Amino acid sequence: MTAQPMANLALVPDIAARPDKAAPPLAALPLGASGADGRVELLGLTRAEIAAALMAAGEAEKGAKMRANQLWHWIYHRGQRDFAQMTTLAKDLRERLAQRFQVGRPLAARDLQSSDGTRKWLLRFQDGEEAESVHIPEEDRGALCVSSQVGCTLTCRFCHTGTMKLVRNLSPAEIVGQVMLARDALGEWPSPPDGRMLSNIVMMGMGEPLYNFEHVAKALKIVMDGEGIAISKRRITLSTAGVVPMIARCGAELGVNLAISLHAVRDDIRDVIVPLNRKYPIKDLLAACANYPGLSNARRITFEYVMLKGVNDTPADARELVRLLKGIPAKVNLIPFNAWPDAPYECSSDKAIRDFSEIVFNAGYSSPVRTPRGRDIMAACGQLKSASVKRSKADILREQAAKEAQLAQAQAAGLSA
Ligand code: SAH
Repeated sequence: MTAQPMANLALVPDIAARPDKAAPPLAALPLGASGADGRVELLGLTRAEIAAALMAAGEAEKGAKMRANQLWHWIYHRGQRDFAQMTTLAKDLRERLAQRFQVGRPLAARDLQSSDGTRKWLLRFQDGEEAESVHIPEEDRGALCVSSQVGCTLTCRFCHTGTMKLVRNLSPAEIVGQVMLARDALGEWPSPPDGRMLSNIVMMGMGEPLYNFEHVAKALKIVMDGEGIAISKRRITLSTAGVVPMIARCGAELGVNLAISLHAVRDDIRDVIVPLNRKYPIKDLLAACANYPGLSNARRITFEYVMLKGVNDTPADARELVRLLKGIPAKVNLIPFNAWPDAPYECSSDKAIRDFSEIVFNAGYSSPVRTPRGRDIMAACGQLKSASVKRSKADILREQAAKEAQLAQAQAAGLSA
């Protein structure tokens, strides 16, 4: 397949008629900003950007908006990747589109199924970097746990993803591509109005979504669009370790449900297990939560709390949690710690978790203990890590120390400024 630079396309009106320019098989198309053969990736673009791409490729300005809407319908409502099958478009247009554009998917390098039905995909992107997404089925619905970054910069002490060396933001196409891939696998095209096994999205995979907000927001707006994937903001939850300055924007721009990875009720402990706390301490975090738009008893912030033996799991911690949450419409998810190789913590005892839950529950907050899902395939909370970036423990400790020194320096600079 010879590459056809975009700029030349408008000058070659008969390109579709040339047999050597036939579209490659769909499975061979990797997801990317532009395909290896110069085709422009449509996934992850807004409608306006699709219209602009059509015009840049020589399509008439008149009707570009309507064509973009038609493409949107095929791509996001029908899950169609083959332009030839987009039968509401004129045949010659379909052929031209196939020459110039592609609708890709992330490559599923591995596809693991847990004994409990949880399914984990290891995704490989065009540059070879990897991230994971996890589908967690319930009886009559299911959530997809979506990654926002390759790796994560936060280095939370109890989280496996934090031990990855490489970090980069995922593009909107790579984020929305995770949803498309899961939909393909579940056979949920065209978008079913109800009874979906992919009914909810949780931005709880690898990465800190509020450190990649622009791309996450763009992807989620595509996911929420009523004429496409159509998963409403009420069924989407974004989880953050507490990037305080971005919380208001997340609420205003997306209005999705918010989850906070709290995990400790005292700054001295949270500073250690969630190092981001040194930048944005508990008080500031909770103030941002209290101001999150649209909160009510029916729409609460979820506080995630991983149960770590001897670290954060006493009845006194539970009572302090209740005190801190006062005035915030909240629910608490207690997550039994999921172990990973060389993890420096242990899970709290069943009794400690039960007692903790009871105190929070008796204070009027829902406080379910999360049943770990997909532990056997390392798909449970905090277990995600792509193998291409394994490091030695010594490296991890060295880098941790360097990051801490950096953080301290930044803080000192901030204080003296
Ligand atoms: N960076 C975001 C998104 C990741 S969500 C955030 O921190 O919220 C992943 C969730 O799993 C977070 O609540 C995280 O704290 C939790 N988690 C991480 N490691 C875990 C582990 N080993 N056991 C249980 N939960 C863990």
